[in-house]
Amino acid sequence: MSSDNTENLGSGPDLTYQAHLNKKELFLPKCLVCNEFHFYPRVVCPHCGSFDLEWQALSGRGEVYSTTVIRRKPERGGNYNVCLVTLKEGPRMMSRIDGIPAEDVKIGDKVTASIINNDGECHVIFSPSQEA
Ligand SMILES: [Zn+2]
Repeated sequence: MSSDNTENLGSGPDLTYQAHLNKKELFLPKCLVCNEFHFYPRVVCPHCGSFDLEWQALSGRGEVYSTTVIRRKPERGGNYNVCLVTLKEGPRMMSRIDGIPAEDVKIGDKVTASIINNDGECHVIFSPSQEA
């Protein structure tokens, strides 16, 4: 094995996160000191600096924090939406809302995560929650 200067490249919390997604599971690191989740996954808690993290499953429920409509021609798939969703457990993720027109997404909307496989890479998207 040759040593090189790419240590940690391709390993670490982002790979763990993706590995869970590939199993259709939404997991994030939770800090065992301050009990906060964070996103994007890191090796150190961004809230308190602790290394004492544990991967835990999230409910997938959240609320739209901000939303932007990206204009796209209908023949290329039509407008879509880029949003920040605050998960019930606290962390905020960039994603998109499917299932309703991009223009109809409103701040405060209740949404539920699902994990889609897009060309072999799994991503989290959200759709409007059924209950109010
Ligand atoms: Zn912490």
